[in-house]
Amino acid sequence: MAYATTNPFTNEQIKVFPNSTDAEINTALDAAHNAFLSWRTTSFAERAKVMQNAADILRANIDDYSKLLTLEMGKIFAESKAETELSAAIFEYYAKNAEKLLVPQDLPVASKDEGRAKVIHQPLGVLLAVEPWNFPFYQVARIIAPQLSAGNTVVLKHASNVPQCAAAMDELMIKAGLPKGAFQNLYPTHDQVSRILADHRVRGLALTGSEGAGARLASEAGQALKKCTMELGGADAFIVLEDADLEKTVNWAVFGRHWNAGQVCVSSKRLIVVDGVYDEFVKRYREGVSKLKMGDPMDPATTLAPLSSQKAADDLKKQVEGAVAAGAKAEEIPLEMPNQGAFFRPVILTNLKDDNPAMREEFFGPVTLLFRVKDEAEAIRVANDSPYGLGGSVFTKDEARGERVAEQIETGMVYINHPTMVKADLPFGGVLRSGFGRELIDLGIKEFVNHKLIDVV
Ligand code: NAP
Repeated sequence: MAYATTNPFTNEQIKVFPNSTDAEINTALDAAHNAFLSWRTTSFAERAKVMQNAADILRANIDDYSKLLTLEMGKIFAESKAETELSAAIFEYYAKNAEKLLVPQDLPVASKDEGRAKVIHQPLGVLLAVEPWNFPFYQVARIIAPQLSAGNTVVLKHASNVPQCAAAMDELMIKAGLPKGAFQNLYPTHDQVSRILADHRVRGLALTGSEGAGARLASEAGQALKKCTMELGGADAFIVLEDADLEKTVNWAVFGRHWNAGQVCVSSKRLIVVDGVYDEFVKRYREGVSKLKMGDPMDPATTLAPLSSQKAADDLKKQVEGAVAAGAKAEEIPLEMPNQGAFFRPVILTNLKDDNPAMREEFFGPVTLLFRVKDEAEAIRVANDSPYGLGGSVFTKDEARGERVAEQIETGMVYINHPTMVKADLPFGGVLRSGFGRELIDLGIKEFVNHKLIDVV
């Protein structure tokens, strides 16, 4: 894949970036390894200063950073600003908490004769981060803030359509005072990524992306016996029980399925509504979606952005056609659409039977899979009828009931009365084909450290 900036609102290619050469990659890995040898000896206070600087610089220049997000992947400007702020909050979280999260742990021993035992947490070395385009800053912050704070160093392979965002993160960390080599952006081909992963200087892989990329690179990490984390796709269930506050629930459903133009791993992709409120819910949901406004993502009146590329829009169209060919009914919401850009009109799919391939796929755009179910038990069964296990949500006025339902949903995150969300101080990750490992809080910072036992007998 060639690295290039193409504005999804105009489909105009703005700038192409050459791939890294093998020699550049070798030099970068040497620099990352050498940087690790000194960075791992720095104090938490020194690392915290760099993380806080990164947060401050992002906030001080939020408009400039956010414009870059909108330019390269098309999200509406308000969402770009929210992403830049979220990224700053993650840097700040680790500036404040990394030392506490990695404090050595004294282990209880049965008797004094057994001496003392403790577990310390030491960084592993150079990590490879492979990241997607849908949140170009947040995805990178989510891995580099904890891992640099732990004393690791990182090389980045970002998605090929956000090369300027990738470079901006590289420059941000230099401005924040990170030593040269401790975080570097590269523009490798897929084959070069495989060679980086196999290189003896690289100790781990953190990948966020599709199932296909995850399966391929996790198997390569396995061959090389290197630790990896996989943050992959999802098809979150959004369960509406008969006692839900319908107005709020509909608003969250419209938002949950259409923010970031529906291109979120934890979008509310499958609406599962109990019979008693189904008709009223669907009527209001359709009305809500009909009020969305497509347009220039820099225009504050726009509420539905273009997709990230024309190819993404074309692929999604084919995927909907495949679902229809297998028996689904598709209702297109007739929004007015600009006559340029990678836009896609929202679609609601119903009549989805078990043998429809759509039941096992992720729709990465404004396509809603809608299910009518008899009751709570059937809602849970349908929610769990998915190869994915990322997030999910339950809408009910009875919080205890919501929690009971949440406990029966096989995913890494469930929210009651809110679509799955992302915050600097909550963990993120899934199970099943949504991957393994966790990012953020203590779980994330402990993914790439050696939990070393020291036992004084
Ligand atoms: P993608 O095609 O898998 O790409 C993700 C990253 O992997 C990109 O940097 C891509 O580079 C790279 N890549 C893909 N195949 C590769 C290979 N064979 N060797 C080396 N690198 C490879 O996914 P996407 O379309 O950009 O992103 C959307 C997917 O990410 C969705 O499935 C979404 O649900 C998932 N996602 C998950 C999370 C989470 O936290 N669980 C968060 C966000 C997104 P190129 O661009 O050069 O191909």
